[in-house]
Amino acid sequence: MSDAALQLHGLVKVFHQGERRLEVLRGADLTVHPGEMVALLGPSGAGKSTLLQICGLLEKPDSGELAIAGKEARKLSEAERTALRGRTIGFVYQYHHLLPEFSALENIVMPQLIVGRSKAEAKARAQSLLAEVGLAERASHRPARLSGGEQQRVAIARALANEPALLLADEPTGNLDPGTGGRVFDLLIGMVREKGLAALIATHNPALAERMDRRLRLEDGRIVEG
Ligand code: ADP
Ligand code: MG
Repeated sequence: MSDAALQLHGLVKVFHQGERRLEVLRGADLTVHPGEMVALLGPSGAGKSTLLQICGLLEKPDSGELAIAGKEARKLSEAERTALRGRTIGFVYQYHHLLPEFSALENIVMPQLIVGRSKAEAKARAQSLLAEVGLAERASHRPARLSGGEQQRVAIARALANEPALLLADEPTGNLDPGTGGRVFDLLIGMVREKGLAALIATHNPALAERMDRRLRLEDGRIVEG
């Protein structure tokens, strides 16, 4: 395909609930270039999370093409999908999804060990990322001992641990109060820009969407401009 960070063509996803057939994606097309930040808007139930899960190689579409950093997902083995997900994609969820039994630092170390970094290297990088998100002093805290905003900061640091080319975020500040959410969003945008990543960020906050390079909307299962 191309050198796009993310490219979708004619993506279709159908869910079956008993007799009901729900066509969530009905031919979604999208290209996100390296270094570009794109907002994905759309009301609740429009299919934003479904689209992001497919882009993150966490779910498979029923049909259509999907390429991450030029690699066509359909042609990958399960092991190659896992490797691509681990090394090339960072994912931030609405709710932090940190492992509760592990410290903030360990949560950032773990994905690095999975892709084969040494413990020392992983720990040093985790410490530096924690400092970047302003939580150097919270390294040993478990998620339950962090505030909602701090949990999301750790989740952002974890998503960036393996230096991904593409950041996917699903309403990353949706669970935070507006003040905290705004600050976490500033941090996320700053880090994405500084590292030159491509990003696709679902949000239904138009003010946050305004701050990205481009705004797209999911409508009737297709992606339309702004
Ligand atoms: P959004 O993130 O925009 O709110 P979602 O992608 O979560 O939308 O959901 C889109 C639609 O697909 C919703 O109607 C939801 O109920 C339905 N849906 C999502 N996941 C599943 C699933 N695993 N099985 C059946 N229906 C689902
Ligand atoms: Mg959603």
